[in-house]
Amino acid sequence: MAWTNSDRAQRLPKNWPTIRRRILRRDGHACMAVFSDGRRCGMPATDVDHIERGDDHSDANLRALCGWCHQKKSSSEGGTAAASRAVRQARPTAQHPALED
Ligand SMILES: [Zn+2]
Repeated sequence: MAWTNSDRAQRLPKNWPTIRRRILRRDGHACMAVFSDGRRCGMPATDVDHIERGDDHSDANLRALCGWCHQKKSSSEGGTAAASRAVRQARPTAQHPALED
């Protein structure tokens, strides 16, 4: 094969830019992350996140996130499914800018 394997954790499909645009539009360009107190982030979304890590690029597995939430999720994701499960149950340890009173 001539193409280079970038070794990314997630292999994005060729039409990812199209998918990404569609998800951002679907979610109103607002971050869909929900905090432990039930409030939605709602910050302007710049990223599209895979709810379950892996190669499921279906709309149901994608959501818009702001850069802050996406980075926070990615940084706490390990390489295992167990770590992925832990992320979804974990409470945020740092204060999100949108939650500052
Ligand atoms: Zn957010």
